[in-house]
Amino acid sequence: MNALMSSPGLIDPVPVARPPMPRSDGRVDLVGLTREAIREELERAGLDAKAAKLRAKQLWHQIYNRGAREFATMSEIAKPHRVLLAERFAIGRPEVVEMQVSSDGTRKWLLRSDDGQDYEMVFIPDADRGTLCVSSQVGCTLNCTFCFTGTMRLVRNLTAGEIVGQVMLARDALGEWPSQPDGRLLTNIVMMGMGEPLYNFDNVRDALKIVMDGDGLGLSRRRITLSTSGVVPMMARAGAEIGVNLAVSLHAVTKAVRDEIVPLNRKYGIEELLQACADYPGVNNARRITFEYVMLKDKNDSDADARELVRLIRHYDLPAKVNLIPFNPWPGANYECSDPERVRAFSMIVFSAGISAPVRTPRGRDIMAACGQLKSAAVKISRADLDRMAAEKSAALEFTQ
Ligand code: SF4
Repeated sequence: MNALMSSPGLIDPVPVARPPMPRSDGRVDLVGLTREAIREELERAGLDAKAAKLRAKQLWHQIYNRGAREFATMSEIAKPHRVLLAERFAIGRPEVVEMQVSSDGTRKWLLRSDDGQDYEMVFIPDADRGTLCVSSQVGCTLNCTFCFTGTMRLVRNLTAGEIVGQVMLARDALGEWPSQPDGRLLTNIVMMGMGEPLYNFDNVRDALKIVMDGDGLGLSRRRITLSTSGVVPMMARAGAEIGVNLAVSLHAVTKAVRDEIVPLNRKYGIEELLQACADYPGVNNARRITFEYVMLKDKNDSDADARELVRLIRHYDLPAKVNLIPFNPWPGANYECSDPERVRAFSMIVFSAGISAPVRTPRGRDIMAACGQLKSAAVKISRADLDRMAAEKSAALEFTQ
């Protein structure tokens, strides 16, 4: 199946078929392929059906459970076969262009694909967990006005291999091979890096299936969260076919404000979005939906906004928690972060209604790794970017008037 490439647009991306990129050395990268696809590749390489099935099982275990990078180390495979495999196939990793470590221990990697596209991943260590924030696209088509990633011009979907490759690279860096059931540093994954995962559904699903596979990377679905800005038509499929926790970038409770800061709202409004949340398979009090809410000064942070948030959550009877995210500034941003007292007051109103509303401590701000700050260093904001953002902003305003 072809990967989809999206053209940047103000509200809705235009999906364009993009054929899979062959590696520059002509070999097929096995990372990101399903077991079935590995078996098919092996048959194409000349193995008979029985041998291909056995080898696919062995390769899967070696690649995803043991973290093998070379066929030469796979001692259970006969030597002549290892040589043949190395001629035809590769076990790739994204190229690391740069790795930065924040004063709070957060690590950000700038990665580069085989065709020269840059994207980022972030690891956030905590006392009781370690969360990897994974990107699903290079850039993002959705242009949320508070988000640095949304200002990137170039957008393409990451392949399943590039998505699962981020997790494997983090495991390499943390020395966490073979996959262990307990005592890991990397315990959780959030699909909250660059991009809208539900606009790259097939690749995100295939990658997460590998991450969740018991003989693969072995992470439980309860420890994986997919974050969407509200691609309503894909939410039921995400629940049925991936089944991980859902986070929704809500960020506003009125049409006017959400239309401005999350332009996708003009296509799928708040009511439709919350109904899709209520219908999300498997939602209950033990598996609540997380609503992300960025705190923007004098924009979405009033007491009335907090009360409306409570009313909406109750109206749709949603098992929910709210993450309040102090706005993380970036060059050229048109917003300010709400004052700490305002954030606390907002949180108290939601909390008093019996809904958990923690204020997220910003992580990795000093290395631009915090929420909404991801943008590859290779694409520093230029004058042209700023002009385009200004033009889009005025177009957006016209649209709402
Ligand atoms: S907040 Fe998410 S969906 Fe919106 S522009 Fe940024 S990366 Fe894209």
